[in-house]
Amino acid sequence: MSSTETKAVSCPQCNYENHVTVYKTINGSTDGKAIKEKMLSGELFRFKCEKCGHEAMLKYPVLYNDIDKKFMVFYIPEIDRTSAVDKNLEKEYAYEELNDITRRLAGSFNEFKEKVHIFESGLDDRAMEIAKVALYDVVSKRTGEEVKGGYFSKYSEKDGTIGFTFFVGEENQIYVQTTRIEIYKKSAEIADNYKEDTGRKFVLVNRDWARNVLYVYKKKNEQ
Ligand SMILES: [Zn+2]
Repeated sequence: MSSTETKAVSCPQCNYENHVTVYKTINGSTDGKAIKEKMLSGELFRFKCEKCGHEAMLKYPVLYNDIDKKFMVFYIPEIDRTSAVDKNLEKEYAYEELNDITRRLAGSFNEFKEKVHIFESGLDDRAMEIAKVALYDVVSKRTGEEVKGGYFSKYSEKDGTIGFTFFVGEENQIYVQTTRIEIYKKSAEIADNYKEDTGRKFVLVNRDWARNVLYVYKKKNEQ
């Protein structure tokens, strides 16, 4: 089940103290579609001041878990690789008694949404990150522009392709790049051979992580 709490939030515009309901956890397998859609659209994080009507996005941690599909994504705004989750928080949320669950961190709302999308598609997020990093270079060469970011946007089992949407150049232009599923499979192999023991339950698997894994892989193959 989901859990919520009431938080006092001072309006950044008029300083009025609002009391808002925030979600601590959301359970994807029992809470139904409505709440999940609100989460993915960002509506759950929208703040509107009762007094002056000022609107803003709230940033707070929320754990999304789907036990049926065996994954949890812990969204902690602005977390990075060096600032692993607080041990107490990890203890409270990891449900250590559950085996065979993939536990991930996400440091931005877009990463959070992407993780949920990947796991719901039954894909391996480590392989996706590695494939994406490889495609950054391809897109950069093709467009002659710097790639600012990208996310998983399409998967076709029938055609054997996966697709990513990238943002390139100063204007953040959208560039869609698809690739063969074999690239994904090769990436999954690389991920499987990468051993890392962070001693943590929740792991941050993002662009930096994938770059590091690819670096280690290339080094090994040079020897
Ligand atoms: Zn206000």
